[in-house]
Amino acid sequence: MSAKQKLLLGAHISTSGGLHKSLERGASIGCTTMQIFTKSNRQWNAKKLTLDEIAEFKQAVKKHDIDPIVVHCTYLINIGSPNQETGKKSLAALVMELQRCQELGLKYLVLHPGSHLNTDEDSALERIAQNIDAAFEAVPGDSMILLETMAGQGSGTCYKFEHIAKVRMLSKHKRRVGVCLDTCHTFVAGYDMRTKKEYEKMWQHFDETIGLDHLKVLHVNDSKKDLGSRVDRHEDLGKGKIGLEGFRLLFNDERFFAIPKIIETPKADLCDDLRNMQTAVNLLSQETREKLKVCVVE
Ligand SMILES: [Zn+2]
Ligand SMILES: [Zn+2]
Repeated sequence: MSAKQKLLLGAHISTSGGLHKSLERGASIGCTTMQIFTKSNRQWNAKKLTLDEIAEFKQAVKKHDIDPIVVHCTYLINIGSPNQETGKKSLAALVMELQRCQELGLKYLVLHPGSHLNTDEDSALERIAQNIDAAFEAVPGDSMILLETMAGQGSGTCYKFEHIAKVRMLSKHKRRVGVCLDTCHTFVAGYDMRTKKEYEKMWQHFDETIGLDHLKVLHVNDSKKDLGSRVDRHEDLGKGKIGLEGFRLLFNDERFFAIPKIIETPKADLCDDLRNMQTAVNLLSQETREKLKVCVVE
């Protein structure tokens, strides 16, 4: 009897009380994958991880069988900045994030690639590539940086697949550069996924520019704002402008069964994550259910 592949579904989970606590929380709602911050997302600095913290975390990972655990970088980092001081500070923070991933044995670090702050996109993309390379050189190992597809707010870059393809192309360490696609961001950046035709067109374009092999994580979020609005406001699955059909296509797409799907919808507590995970499960077709084992608490 061959074991069924698990539905890889989870949410961004709080680490309050210690990194290892997040595993218990994730497991309590049936996450088979999840995302965390390994430090405050609104501060530059963090205390170095102690050996005890690392050991406790790894023990919890073993116990709860949640894999992969994706790490999201602090929001302050802007390695695309033309300002030297911000650039330097951002690179140091990225090195710290990557170091923590290596220490914790976590492979995926999701990064908002950066903003050009009223210079130009191309030079920002070059700075981003140089800085991720500098981070890889400072922290050897297997942990990857996943460039997140962005909404295109303000002077943010990487709202086009071409931008991400360019950063990968410029990097000397492509093996360690992957992509995290956020459905809310791509939608407000102008990539429609509401019908089968548009959905297929989006992925074909992704494959032709970046390559589907480089997609490592999906952020599954509906959008409060319209297609092409370039305003980033996440919404519960099915309650926003994307609507259920787009997510039905995504969750039943066999190409992405092995890609972790992380929900980052508005939440007061874990019940909100669970509700969105249940929405996703309800979209699974009979055929998908025959292929995937569902672990979400029902
Ligand atoms: Zn993000
Ligand atoms: Zn967002």
